[in-house]
Amino acid sequence: MSWKTLIEFWSQISRCGAQPAQRMRAQRRLVTSESVAVAPCEVLEARSLPSALSIVIDYRFDTNNFFDTQEKKDLFQQVANLYAARITDNLGAITPSGRNTWQAVFTDPATGQSSTVSNLSVSSDTIIVFAGGRDLEGDTLGVGGPGGYSAQGSSSWLAIVDRRGQSGAAGSHPTDFGPWGGSITFDTVGTSWFFGSTTVGLDGDEADFVSVAMHELGHILGFGTSESFDNLVLNGRFTGPKSVAEYDLTGNPLLDSDNSHWANAVTDGGLETAMDPAIPLGKRKLFTNLDWAALDDLGWTLTSTNPAASPTLTFPGSIPTFVRGGARVVVDTSATFSNPGNLTLKGSQLQVSTIMNGGKYDAVTITTGNGITKSGATLKYNGVSIGTYSNGLGTLAFKITFSSKASNEAVEACLRNLQFYTTSQQAGTLDRTLSIRILNMNGQNSAPTLKTVHVL
Ligand SMILES: [Zn+2]
Repeated sequence: MSWKTLIEFWSQISRCGAQPAQRMRAQRRLVTSESVAVAPCEVLEARSLPSALSIVIDYRFDTNNFFDTQEKKDLFQQVANLYAARITDNLGAITPSGRNTWQAVFTDPATGQSSTVSNLSVSSDTIIVFAGGRDLEGDTLGVGGPGGYSAQGSSSWLAIVDRRGQSGAAGSHPTDFGPWGGSITFDTVGTSWFFGSTTVGLDGDEADFVSVAMHELGHILGFGTSESFDNLVLNGRFTGPKSVAEYDLTGNPLLDSDNSHWANAVTDGGLETAMDPAIPLGKRKLFTNLDWAALDDLGWTLTSTNPAASPTLTFPGSIPTFVRGGARVVVDTSATFSNPGNLTLKGSQLQVSTIMNGGKYDAVTITTGNGITKSGATLKYNGVSIGTYSNGLGTLAFKITFSSKASNEAVEACLRNLQFYTTSQQAGTLDRTLSIRILNMNGQNSAPTLKTVHVL
């Protein structure tokens, strides 16, 4: 399997990195103005209602034209919006004026050199990401991290630049993080990038842009790059309570040796985490609940709904009985499908297999009704083609591959129309266990749901 190392970098601007001077703390340049009679948090008092974060991607430093089409920029924004939709922190506006001035310090994506922008205006509840590309060393696909700054002005101004009103980010043992933004760089040479909102067409030799963008934005937001993250690292593990509660194993989640990622191949609910250090080519990884939990632990306020949540199938009805030689039996007329992350169905696949006591005579198919009709191998819902299906027999799984026209309602109708039967009265009579799951909804899979079927 071919692996490529994702980032770490932030070293240029990290407190523990090679050039710590780039992360200038306010007090080093503190020039108190005469008009400082302002409480440090006054700027924020007008704000009370939570609203979603905006991540503004700024391409002024993309001089190597990595983002050479609007479609690529749109896709990056879609990924950024996955964060924006969940983060409700109020970040104070950085509005330089008069003696209150500052310089954003970050790595120029096109050169790898430190760069500055003087007196950048950053709106409230907004983070700015300078994005671009250059030839990154070795197998590195991307690098990213929050920027540093230098600032001059009143104490309230310095506090805004430093932490955007996140009071927990103050002091020597911060529990919160309020960055202005940072920069992200993607590899421009030797990487075959896949730009797609779904994984349809993602080949085994391609690097998935969505996955790498999601990972780098995680670093921008402080994963492995903030003091409030570092303060939760103990003996190579992460002690944040939300993460510990979410971790599939007991104890504190294991970190990579760099203490800036989960250990390689750490999973959550069976899915590999997005913030481990590497991703295989040909694969998409979005944030798992464990990745989100770490952002929660380092200080971000998250809405409870996970937009990247996995789909779920349920089969709550009574156990159906199939009588050999009799009519095919519907598996569950009250089956449900939920898609809390509103993940795209295009290219996803429903699979049904008999995992216990099955035999060569066991068959799974789909019947009509509930709006479902069939035309050859094509399935229609309310007259609209929603995909194709193939019957299951013996060890061959029943499958439906959904098209872009499939809706959540259509999938649920399909689940309610699944049928089990045997093709011979010689089939055994032990209870069958069916395993039903849906795969590859924007890279996410449902957990397999099991359903028992009696056979007489
Ligand atoms: Zn990383």
